Amino acid sequence: MVLTLVCSLFLQDSPKTDDDAIVFVPWDAWVRFEKGSWVRYRVESPSATITGRTVLQAKNEELILLQSVQKVKVGDGEFETEPTPIELKPPSSRPEPCATCKNLHRSNPKRGTEQLEVAGRKLRCVIVTDVVYDCQGKEIGRAQAWYSRDVPGWIVRMETTSPSGKVTHVCLEFEAKK
Ligand SMILES: [Zn+2]
Repeated sequence: MVLTLVCSLFLQDSPKTDDDAIVFVPWDAWVRFEKGSWVRYRVESPSATITGRTVLQAKNEELILLQSVQKVKVGDGEFETEPTPIELKPPSSRPEPCATCKNLHRSNPKRGTEQLEVAGRKLRCVIVTDVVYDCQGKEIGRAQAWYSRDVPGWIVRMETTSPSGKVTHVCLEFEAKK
């Protein structure tokens, strides 16, 4: 995933700690949590609303195994997916190269901090704002993400815009076993 910056509207204050220099890598976002940790989230896009739950199933030095179940609502229809395994491997570098072109996309992330609340818990989040580029280096959208190292998978909130519309990902609830 590539995140880069736009404006300082949402940047409440400047990063103050090393933790604030956060670079999102799925492996890093799960590796500090133990088996049984989970996160529940909702993703709203112009085409569908997805409510999902991701659970950490197993972990060793080479592999983190997650399991995802999603309820997908499209128009008046709704269905639930089969439990789907997700395998995370340690990254070769940080940030990770693009999975498609194997290169690092252009990126100029801007970071700030803001407090958000999830299921009654106040979380200090690092906000990362960036322009998103495709594999040819063309700007295709913008992304803003609120991360907390206390949440399995780190994503507290994420908003992305692209030609196909706006997508909002919100963490609804979580349990962190450490
Ligand atoms: Zn690429």
